[in-house]
Amino acid sequence: MPTSDLAAKLFLALDQATRQGRGIQRDTYGAGEQAAHDIIRQSAETLGLECAVDAIGNLTMTMPGHDRTQPRIVIGSHLDSVPQGGNFDGAAGVVAGLCAIARLRADNVVPPWDIAVMGIRGEESAWFDVPYLGSAGAFGLLDPKCLEVRRFDTQRSLADTMTAGGFDAGAIRERRRLLDPVSVRAYLEVHIEQGPELIGEGLPVAVVTGIRGCLRFRNARCVGAYAHSGAVPRRHRQDAVAATVALLHHMNEYWARIEARGDDLVLTSGEFFTDAAMHGPSKVAGETRFVLDIRSTADAVMEAAASEARVAAERFEEQFRVRFDLGATSYSPPAMMDARLRQTLLNLSDHPYEMASGAGHDAAIFAQMKIPSAMIFIRNANGSHNPDEAMALDDFDAAVMLLTRLLKSSCSAAVA
Ligand SMILES: [Zn+2]
Repeated sequence: MPTSDLAAKLFLALDQATRQGRGIQRDTYGAGEQAAHDIIRQSAETLGLECAVDAIGNLTMTMPGHDRTQPRIVIGSHLDSVPQGGNFDGAAGVVAGLCAIARLRADNVVPPWDIAVMGIRGEESAWFDVPYLGSAGAFGLLDPKCLEVRRFDTQRSLADTMTAGGFDAGAIRERRRLLDPVSVRAYLEVHIEQGPELIGEGLPVAVVTGIRGCLRFRNARCVGAYAHSGAVPRRHRQDAVAATVALLHHMNEYWARIEARGDDLVLTSGEFFTDAAMHGPSKVAGETRFVLDIRSTADAVMEAAASEARVAAERFEEQFRVRFDLGATSYSPPAMMDARLRQTLLNLSDHPYEMASGAGHDAAIFAQMKIPSAMIFIRNANGSHNPDEAMALDDFDAAVMLLTRLLKSSCSAAVA
């Protein structure tokens, strides 16, 4: 079967088995995710791959290589979805792995070492508010406390949900390492792009530079003084809204300057509100609360943006006679993709293009384990985490082609 037929067949089967109403429902450790695993496993068995499931449900489908003692290449992504998600977020990466192996088979390639496709459990935090359950769990990285987290709708704990699905929550409780990082020579993940960049660029695929980290002022505050909106002249005002807007505007201009310099930075204030019990249409607002979310593939860029915010806040305190309390920051580190794999992918691309990933992926966990990791993004309309994800099969084929070229080049490099 040509690989595009295999992909079309698998995407159709996944859609039919897991569509509920308008969207896709592959609930982490639930019936939807399991249905996807069953479809993928059956296809892998038809391809003659060795299938194994670890204690926490990750599915590994292996094409044996010449020397089975060598560390293997893992191609992976997740098979769960958010509630009312789309058909391609996650699943595209697993299907791409199977299609690439089918191409190697068709070309009679026997790799020097094993190549495995991994259907990873529970990447989405939507169900249990814990991301990367499958990948972080496989490396024994999860805090066992996560087992008590309840699924948002059924209120059943992760431990009970896993047990009901036939999995061993004890592996997480004991922080058991199910996958030895030394046994993985490289991790490759194909994923749909979750923003509009490739559509804008008119390109089918991109090589990912890295997964952005996040430095966030989660509970920032500005305190001024409530006053009558008509009676208090400008020079006497302590307007918290005006001061916060000035700060956010300043940061927006700063962002444009950093972007013009060519550095990766994204700034967002996704929450910004006044106190509903105190504010009013005829009042100067005496207090705001807001979030400043700073993301970049470089720690130094995030830190520089955070100190820019602190310095600017001090300046606006004086100008607006208010007090800023930016509060504590939360932090998740950026995960850079492997420089050598990135360069190889760019060399093998028909239209080389690199971009950062704004969303988290299992590849971040593999990179954290010091496994050389790389990602390929596929053009996708309408964003992700919604039923309208739209990936063209031709674009998917371009990603499979690039992945297959990378696998072949690593095989021939090993022989040479
Ligand atoms: Zn995903």
